[in-house]
Amino acid sequence: MTDLIGLPIKLARTIDGPCGVCGETTVIIGSSADPHIASLRCACCDRHRGWLPKTVADFLTDLVGRFGRPTDPITVRNSELAATLGAHAAEASTAPTT
Ligand SMILES: [Zn+2]
Repeated sequence: MTDLIGLPIKLARTIDGPCGVCGETTVIIGSSADPHIASLRCACCDRHRGWLPKTVADFLTDLVGRFGRPTDPITVRNSELAATLGAHAAEASTAPTT
């Protein structure tokens, strides 16, 4: 998963919300921590925003493998995940918990 670290993504799934502190929707993929594949941090204030679901990681790995590492944030939507991977794409939310 190391090739995804530092990659900016925008989570636009129906369960995702903006950062509870600064309202930023872009997150940066961080290092992994068992049992999670990778952490997600706010691109603006570095707040912990959740964990990268495996389905999203697979989607991004596939995308980066085919098209290379993008410079702009990749927008991840339910519809794109569903089209690429089938259903059950949204298993972790970045919506603010407080
Ligand atoms: Zn933030």
